Amino acid sequence: MNYKSYTLHNFIELPQISNLSSEYIEAIRIVGNVLPFKTNNYVAEQLIDWKNIPNDPIFTLTFPRKEMLSKPHYDKVAKMLHSGIEPQVLRAEVNKIRLKLNPNPAGQEYNVPLFEGEKLHGIQHKYRETVLFFPSQGQTCHAYCTFCFRWPQFTGMSELKFAMKEVVLLHKYLLKYPKVTDLLFTGGDPLTANAKILSTYIEPLLSKKFSHVQNIRIGSKSLAYWPYRFLTDKDADELLFLFEKVNKAGKRLAFQAHFNHPDELMTDAVRRAIERIRNTGTQIRAQSPLLRNINDNPETWSKMWKEQIRLGLIPYYMFVARDTGSKAFFEVSLVRAWNIFRKAYANVSGIARTVRGPSMSCSPGKVQVLGVAEVNGEKVFVLRFLQCRNPHLVDIPFFAKYSASATWFDDLEPAFGEKKFFFEEENLLSKSGKDADHSWE
Ligand SMILES: *Cc1c(COP(=O)(O)O)cnc(C)c1O
Ligand code: SF4
Repeated sequence: MNYKSYTLHNFIELPQISNLSSEYIEAIRIVGNVLPFKTNNYVAEQLIDWKNIPNDPIFTLTFPRKEMLSKPHYDKVAKMLHSGIEPQVLRAEVNKIRLKLNPNPAGQEYNVPLFEGEKLHGIQHKYRETVLFFPSQGQTCHAYCTFCFRWPQFTGMSELKFAMKEVVLLHKYLLKYPKVTDLLFTGGDPLTANAKILSTYIEPLLSKKFSHVQNIRIGSKSLAYWPYRFLTDKDADELLFLFEKVNKAGKRLAFQAHFNHPDELMTDAVRRAIERIRNTGTQIRAQSPLLRNINDNPETWSKMWKEQIRLGLIPYYMFVARDTGSKAFFEVSLVRAWNIFRKAYANVSGIARTVRGPSMSCSPGKVQVLGVAEVNGEKVFVLRFLQCRNPHLVDIPFFAKYSASATWFDDLEPAFGEKKFFFEEENLLSKSGKDADHSWE
């Protein structure tokens, strides 16, 4: 299959678009001016059920909908488009709206390390063992998710783009940190880069001096959005050969696949792609945020995890959606998130209970909602760090005052009348409180 992408400029040529009323088409134009919009022929032909519009989960996952912007923002953009406003003025106004949508949540800029006096914008190093790398050629995706927190990277708000051109600095950086065991390629989607570029980054890591870097991880949505990346794309075989080479060198190629809904696991193409990747010795782990209007019920999750197990994937994380972009449309309260997780988890065998969640990627670390409990007559959330800037704090339970409406960690307060959470005491996280403070060094 040949890849064909559809954006704001040409989506009207999609044959399936005749299923949409003019009202929906108008909404795509308006919202698509603020949030990035891109889909492709595979998503439109094989994933979306056009008889189930607008409720089809994959439609909602890639097509902008009116409710994804607040009414004042929506009306403002609609008015500007109708008035035939100058493109530059429109762009400036739209950027103002974008800046109100929390384009860079959870202080990601604090994770950018200083190295030999220079900020390395293509790297984030928050947890001792794992370095994130954003190859500059992988800062796009085969389609865009409407909930995406990386959306500023796709809209040309370039000062927020964490991308790096040079591979030399990455390799130098890894040599300086022998405690790093994992290098995680992320984006965008790093697999929008071609196999040659990826092997420029990866192959040198197979040499002896990088023996501490045991796991080469690739976070990608391409299995769900474009499985032909592993089947018929020009460099599909070359890419799989690279995966195999990593595994044969005694390291592990670990594929972090993003699947948001079981429908994404059902096509013949995705199943063949999974099989080809697994045949290279690669492990595939699967993760997704919990999203209202897409997957916010336990049946969808248990079905997805069971299907993943059947196809040889390892369920890994359920995330709480980040506070960004169209969050109001997708948000689920923490107590509901926990209940959905718990019911889905109870409905699968131990083999699928490798999954952890619901987890919030916050500034101090990944915080899991373990549940709701009552302690001394006070209703509380029980939480723990799955990952933390300070590795010594991982897996220690802590408590927050119960809140029925909280949707994110920032909405929570310490329980039992305490002023601070335990990790906020005595500079447990860092000396400065911000910056890529490698307090674990
Ligand atoms: C999630 C995450 C990782 C990877 O964490 P694992 O638990 O090892 O999958 C690494 N760095 C950052 C900044 C993350 O948010
Ligand atoms: S695939 Fe990932 S990075 Fe790309 S748009 Fe979706 S959530 Fe964002």
